[in-house]
Amino acid sequence: MITYEEALSLALTNAVRSEPQAVPLSEAFARVLAQDLVSPFPQPRFDNSAVDGYALTNGTPSPMWSVVRTIAAGDPPGTALQPGECARIFTGAPTPPNTFAVVMQEDTVTRSGNIEVAITLKEGQHIRRAGEEVQTGEIALAEGTPLFAAGLGSVANLGLSEVVVVPAPRVGIVVTGAELVAIGEELDPAQIYESNSVVVTSALKSLGLGPEFIRTTGDDPEASAQVLNEALEQCDLLITTGGVSVGDRDVVRQTLHSLGAQEIFWKVAIKPGKPVFMGRMGRKVVFGLPGNPLSVLATFHLLVQPWIRASMGFGSPSPRRHKAKLASPLTHKPGRNEFVPGSITLVGGDLWVSPISGQGSHMLSGIATANALIDVPTELEFLDEGQPVWVLPL
Ligand code: AMP
Ligand code: MG
Repeated sequence: MITYEEALSLALTNAVRSEPQAVPLSEAFARVLAQDLVSPFPQPRFDNSAVDGYALTNGTPSPMWSVVRTIAAGDPPGTALQPGECARIFTGAPTPPNTFAVVMQEDTVTRSGNIEVAITLKEGQHIRRAGEEVQTGEIALAEGTPLFAAGLGSVANLGLSEVVVVPAPRVGIVVTGAELVAIGEELDPAQIYESNSVVVTSALKSLGLGPEFIRTTGDDPEASAQVLNEALEQCDLLITTGGVSVGDRDVVRQTLHSLGAQEIFWKVAIKPGKPVFMGRMGRKVVFGLPGNPLSVLATFHLLVQPWIRASMGFGSPSPRRHKAKLASPLTHKPGRNEFVPGSITLVGGDLWVSPISGQGSHMLSGIATANALIDVPTELEFLDEGQPVWVLPL
């Protein structure tokens, strides 16, 4: 059995990155930029006002400026101002050619069409200069930038409708278990509703991905082989749940072997999620997650998500970690690195984390309030209230 750090490192070194691809802006959300974007014009495009105020030709206090025109955003700046003249100007409007500074309207007093300025202004004050962000021909957005709200907004600023990104893997989900019934169907006494596909789909969604397909199979080796074989043909990343432990009916690992998958790891010293499997067939990767819904959630976060992020070109694909203080004591059986669901809150400038107790790995409802996993080191037997711990935000 390997440690979590070893498994994470194997997951990351087996990341598979696809050839960069041009996509419309509307499909670039949550992707990583795979090209340097060079600005075809200076940004800002022209000198413009940062405030609502008046464009002045010098910065000395004066009781008398004559307001000769108004320039709103979108208006042309007009010709140079004459001595003693100023222009009413609004945020984003181009400043006239000989503007020294813009005075905020709050720093002026209006007297019958003229304004009085009582403060001294520095040259260029409240003017956003053309090219102060980037000059023509400079890189506005570098390869490797993640495209979320600000990144995509910058692409839009350049007037681009398409952008080259690292494509997302095509993900397929296969849930296994003879006891599983789809929502809407009648339950026999020993059956349960299938929920792992919902857990995995939701976790993918938070990465800006959706599964290509979701299939269900029972625990029969031949039927599973057929479903898994077809699934592997139709995706780059296959995520299975259930059937990967040591029971007689746990056929997923053997079946994947028989289909030619090379095992990268099976069994990691973590709790929950110990039987997790990772395999590879050429450029395709399969994660066999255990069946318990909490194990699915944890192993997805600990191993699958880092693999996806590395494959999608994110710079730091490992789970994020923060230090927090434990809000109530925890006991732990040494041997496995445990990840206990918890809820982080900020109290008086410190992060505190409350473990959500009494939740077995077959339970999910309590976990719905969790926003983090508490990393309980393998060898510790007891963690006291107030003790600093690492937490992995979910
Ligand atoms: P397994 O790893 O197949 O032994 O499954 C472990 C536990 O998770 C069993 O109690 C299963 O019934 C449950 N389980 C497995 N797959 C699912 C699923 N897709 N939805 C809900 N529970 C599941
Ligand atoms: Mg099963």
